[in-house]
Amino acid sequence: MSISNSVVEQLLATCADWRPQMYFKSSLTALSHAMEDLVLNDSDTPLVVASFQRERFYRQEAHRYKRISHKTDQVYVLAAPETDFSNSSTDYERVAFEASDALAQEWHLVIIGEHYASCLICREKNVPVSKQDNKISIDSNRRFEGIWTFDRQVTISAANIMLDRIGIYRPELESKLNLARQLYLSDTETLNPGIPIDSPLTNPDPFVQRLVTYLQASQYKLLKANKSLAAKQQKEQLLNSVTDAVRRSLNIKQILQVAVQKLGEGIGVCRCIVYRCHEEDTTATVDREFISPGIKSVRGHQWQLVNNPLFEEAISTRETISIDNVSEDKRINELALEKGTGEFFLNIIQNYSISSWLLVPIFYHGRLLGDIEIHHCETEPIAWKKEDVGLVDAIATQVGVALIQAEAYADLEDLNEQLEALDRTRSNLVAIVGHELRTPLSTIQVCLESLASEPDMPPELSQIMLDTALGDAERMRNLVQDFLTLSRLEGGAVEWNLETLSITECIDLAVSNAKARNEGSSFPNIQNLTTPQDLPFIQVDGEWLVEVLAKLLDNACKFTQADGEIAIAVKTNGGKVLEVTVSDTGRGIETGSLETVFDRFYQEEGALRRSAGGTGLGLAICRQIVKNWGGEIWAESPGKDQGSVFHFTIPIRAINYKSQQSKPKNNQLADKSKKINKK
Ligand code: ADP
Repeated sequence: MSISNSVVEQLLATCADWRPQMYFKSSLTALSHAMEDLVLNDSDTPLVVASFQRERFYRQEAHRYKRISHKTDQVYVLAAPETDFSNSSTDYERVAFEASDALAQEWHLVIIGEHYASCLICREKNVPVSKQDNKISIDSNRRFEGIWTFDRQVTISAANIMLDRIGIYRPELESKLNLARQLYLSDTETLNPGIPIDSPLTNPDPFVQRLVTYLQASQYKLLKANKSLAAKQQKEQLLNSVTDAVRRSLNIKQILQVAVQKLGEGIGVCRCIVYRCHEEDTTATVDREFISPGIKSVRGHQWQLVNNPLFEEAISTRETISIDNVSEDKRINELALEKGTGEFFLNIIQNYSISSWLLVPIFYHGRLLGDIEIHHCETEPIAWKKEDVGLVDAIATQVGVALIQAEAYADLEDLNEQLEALDRTRSNLVAIVGHELRTPLSTIQVCLESLASEPDMPPELSQIMLDTALGDAERMRNLVQDFLTLSRLEGGAVEWNLETLSITECIDLAVSNAKARNEGSSFPNIQNLTTPQDLPFIQVDGEWLVEVLAKLLDNACKFTQADGEIAIAVKTNGGKVLEVTVSDTGRGIETGSLETVFDRFYQEEGALRRSAGGTGLGLAICRQIVKNWGGEIWAESPGKDQGSVFHFTIPIRAINYKSQQSKPKNNQLADKSKKINKK
């Protein structure tokens, strides 16, 4: 059985002069206890009707109703069952109603005796629960609206409504209910013989009302204090959890993501972003963000920092910039008039619906590491609360510490890698020195000793001895030379002389040098496929460009049989880079080694079983040089004995006409390429 009519509304309809009042839950508890105590402490045998919203609330008071039932047999307790509450007549009348019944939202207590009459007829109000309310405050936050009075007429009306309802839920009680009506709900005068009309029991209003007002006021204060304590505690918890999470990671990206996520969720904002930047940066890219559902993402967007007064102000004051209402902010309104920066601001404000803005710089020991921004994106702007700004400041400080910690760790890892690389170099060097230097050195020694100890040696043999000694001395010289070159490149000890060059001239020179170096021995044909007319000039250090070409061509000659083919070509790739390729039909490279060939001292057959000569440093040198001008170098090969192709790129930069005029001539380059080998 479920009735949808509200008892409060029914009662108010019968008592036209009465206005409902608001009561906190704790006040109602106090009032009902006081009313129940009245019953327990008086000699009267009253009618008692109590309606609880749910069984669990009744359970808390069940012992009182057992005691009340010893005083009178006209006790009715109503509740929506949750476990085992049901219609029954043990001790007192239990009346069960369904959870969908209007009574499930209401709280009623009616007592009518000879000496007193009082009723409390209330309905729960839906109070919006804010995110910051914790469990305890949610309960004390519950509010009810209705009537509480000692007025006998109103109480009789309330009792009438309640008894009628009980009759609907439990029709079998009709005769008992009729008796109650007869005993308690007839004329006031006859029911109160001897009780003066202004007795505190019949007219307690002035005193009790004041008491209730006090109770209500203190309850309200308590609620507020509770709320602010809970909010404070929640902020502390948020700060601790962000600190804990960001300090736990040494990964910068993770630190930033955790910070925005926790901060955004914790203070319930529309958008929270973070980007890394330094004071002198002109732009920054939004790295990480938190967005509430339905809010547009700004991740990956470029933020303008140069001529950005908000950014400049945050840097100079080292403080958070807080804008409550973007459309009324003086700085932004002045900016809007400026070309460039103004457009940028208007654009992002409109595109990303920013109505209130918080910009928090992340500093560590005076060094700017980035910014956290919080955007409110609803039409109605909000005023940033001082405690929220303080919280974001505190979180920014923690993020700063975590970032520095992560940077230090990354530096340490870099250093470690460098040390490991150095260690590898050292071991390789030992192997190389063991073989590359000692073997030719012993050969030279044997040859020279033989020449010295055998003055009668036939001239052809002494010539062979001399040639062998000279050849090995040359190998040693190359190794030492390459090793020094690589050390200078890696150590940043090279001075780069940028000049405007024609790539075709450099290639011509490198090809003719390679042919000259191989003169007298059989080597594959080198085809120069470059066509000068369409190629733009480039700005690189010519000496080093020729060096890269020379090393690639020498390798191609070395690893290709004499009847094979070598080709050198160049093309503009996407208009931004020149791509040079040196391809051969030689022994090729296994797929798994295409990257390792660029490692220092890498040689397919290993340093100790070298057949083709070389130092194993050539490609490592090429990579360092190409890296320096911002290009890339890589190898491709279909596999063993199927030839290889080496590619490298050179960025094309805008060159004015004047510099094109001063392009160097072939012979100038030739001089320069000689110089490299002397260094
Ligand atoms: P090296 O002095 O040994 O030539 P590099 O660094 O120039 O040293 O080359 C490293 C290794 O890469 C070579 O020993 C060889 O195994 C492989 N390599 C380089 N160029 C080619 C090529 N054109 N064809 C096949 N293998 C090559």
